Amino acid sequence: MQADAPAQALLPAAHTTPDQQHAAALFVASQAHDADDCRALLAMLGLTPTPKRKRGRPRGNHGHGHPARYAQGCRCPECRAANADRCRGLQERRVADPEAADRAGHGNASTYQNYGCRCRPCTEANSAKSLAYKQAQRAKRASVPATTTVDCPINTVRGAAS
Ligand SMILES: [Zn+2]
Ligand SMILES: [Zn+2]
Repeated sequence: MQADAPAQALLPAAHTTPDQQHAAALFVASQAHDADDCRALLAMLGLTPTPKRKRGRPRGNHGHGHPARYAQGCRCPECRAANADRCRGLQERRVADPEAADRAGHGNASTYQNYGCRCRPCTEANSAKSLAYKQAQRAKRASVPATTTVDCPINTVRGAAS
């Protein structure tokens, strides 16, 4: 391995600053033949690759009742309401801009629902989608196992009769 000689010259990772480790890791990476080779070399030196920085801005610290907090996974009533508000605003903006539906493309149920487009291809796509949904729901209900207990609420579902 060509990288052995320069790699031995590097200080053990424990006695180096993060900056030195980073420089060393970069040097090792520049000597490696491929990603696996690079990982092996870094492991030999006890270096861990610098964690990838996540894309975009760092996570904001929003209070509850903020759509960003909802996007971070909170489902409390305030965050749900804030997110619903935001979606309503987006929806209104999409519906108000007729070109937005063109950009989204016609013949899609999503263009019918999200952009309020009522052109023929969108309407047909939406009808087909809702029909498929209804059929799937019906099939789901029909597959509920039959039970002999008369007062079981499942018996009130007329799945087997249809
Ligand atoms: Zn919340
Ligand atoms: Zn359309």
